[in-house]
Amino acid sequence: MPKLSLLLWLLCLFVAKAQWGRRNLETGSERRELMTTIQVRNPRNGQNDYEFTPPSADELHALALRLRNSGWAARALDERIGVLQSWKDSLTQQRAAIISALTTDTGRALISAMEFDGVIRSIDRWSALAPQLLQPEPAQSSVALPSISYKHQLVPYGLVGVISPWNFPLTLAMIDAIPALLAGCAVIIKPSEVAPRFVDPLRESLVDVPALPLAFVQGAGATGATLIECADTICFTGSVKTGKLVAAACAQRMIPAFLELGGKDPVIVTASANIKQAAATVLRASVLATGQACQSLERVYVDETIAETFIAELVKQAEAVTLNYPDLQRGQIGPLIFDKQADIIAKQLADAVNKGARVLTGGVIETHGGGKWIRPTVVTNVNHSMTLMTEETFGPVLPVMTYRTTDEAIALANDSVYGLSAAVIAGSLEEAEAIALRLEAGAVSLNDGALTGLMYEAEKHSFKLSGLGGSRMGAAGLTRFFRKKALLMQSGVPMPLAALDEANAQREIKRN
Ligand code: NAD
Repeated sequence: MPKLSLLLWLLCLFVAKAQWGRRNLETGSERRELMTTIQVRNPRNGQNDYEFTPPSADELHALALRLRNSGWAARALDERIGVLQSWKDSLTQQRAAIISALTTDTGRALISAMEFDGVIRSIDRWSALAPQLLQPEPAQSSVALPSISYKHQLVPYGLVGVISPWNFPLTLAMIDAIPALLAGCAVIIKPSEVAPRFVDPLRESLVDVPALPLAFVQGAGATGATLIECADTICFTGSVKTGKLVAAACAQRMIPAFLELGGKDPVIVTASANIKQAAATVLRASVLATGQACQSLERVYVDETIAETFIAELVKQAEAVTLNYPDLQRGQIGPLIFDKQADIIAKQLADAVNKGARVLTGGVIETHGGGKWIRPTVVTNVNHSMTLMTEETFGPVLPVMTYRTTDEAIALANDSVYGLSAAVIAGSLEEAEAIALRLEAGAVSLNDGALTGLMYEAEKHSFKLSGLGGSRMGAAGLTRFFRKKALLMQSGVPMPLAALDEANAQREIKRN
């Protein structure tokens, strides 16, 4: 009996502690969770072989204060470019270590090297563009009041918080940070807790560049929430679900949130398309990075007159794709980085099959050496009652539907809560463009697919649930980090209050 009461007492204590912890999270202090060590799974073998302890809320706030007060914005643009170039040299010295950590984080080697090289190119690209984009503008006269002229001061946000996902850990940690630093903002980056190893060599690269107000913090959702408490603007890349929480938290603080969220990108393949080429393009744009890319094609609409040949070609090409297992140095697609994603993919496929879909190739989550994998999967007999056609899959899965008319294809493509990007493959760019103009998406690749993952010059805004805020691509990728302060200069005699005397009303009314 005493044993039972002790047990009950312990149970009550446990429940009370759990409640306290939850309340603590709800009130936003989150200190307990912040300092709890987090174990990290290796996507190639399923083992937890890395761990880290997030900073406390106080440590994060102190870091934010230190970086915000670094005086970075007061430095001339040339100086900021010089410091970034020094960091580039330091990063280059860490190249092998960064790529190695990123390879462990993601289970893929080539894309890890490509991510690193892309960051180096991005530093150079923004360093070259910034002086043109930030040319001081000459003062202009007001048309309505010629004695008043005006100009703008660009005032960077003090501290930008970057919260990034696990699918391209390095690219998406740096994509907003580099232009923000050039704009004069300090930056704290919180990468995903699912793929955080690359932070260690990146921190090493910062040791020799103390002037750069940039820091990495490792942590999960609670650390991201705390970062929102201490930043002046947030760049968030991740799911719609978390994006909504981030937007609400930023709204509470009345700070801007740039949100780059999920998608369910459609591709329309018209009757005039080169079928072999179209199949190759659709396949590549869908299975690249094992489909773990926001801009992956996840819905295929093909003209019914070419559907049979197109699907046969797609299956043939899909079956030729190999896993980078057991040899990391061979094969085209890697493991699923986040094991929970494997469950989502399996669930969507099961739902589709239960509703009558046919899996022509792939479709099975395979376990090799402890890691989870899925081969390119082609599914037919699908419709929009299936989650496979409506929710983000984030895997190399190609559900194919046929259409009769262009209007029908466009209606199907637009029948989505997402609007990230899309693609049209046709016999000519003119035909593709006519369709693209009617699609509800922030970017459309014409006669190609997923081009937003390859080039960064064109500005784009996400439609619908896929995001909010200024474009991270193109010139706005830099200029969105400034508030414009207007300097309004009177060179004549300021208006006296007497001019607003009601006695003047009748004269004014007659004049007009
Ligand atoms: P996620 O939303 O689960 O997590 C993203 C980040 O948010 C992580 O760093 C996480 O720790 C953090 N986080 C979680 N809860 C938080 C909270 N309450 N406050 C602040 N931060 C919090 O997304 P994920 O699974 O890491 O990434 C996959 C998603 O990202 C997919 O939906 C994909 O489409 C999207 N994505 C979008 C783009 C784009 O450019 N639009 C690019 C890549 C990925």
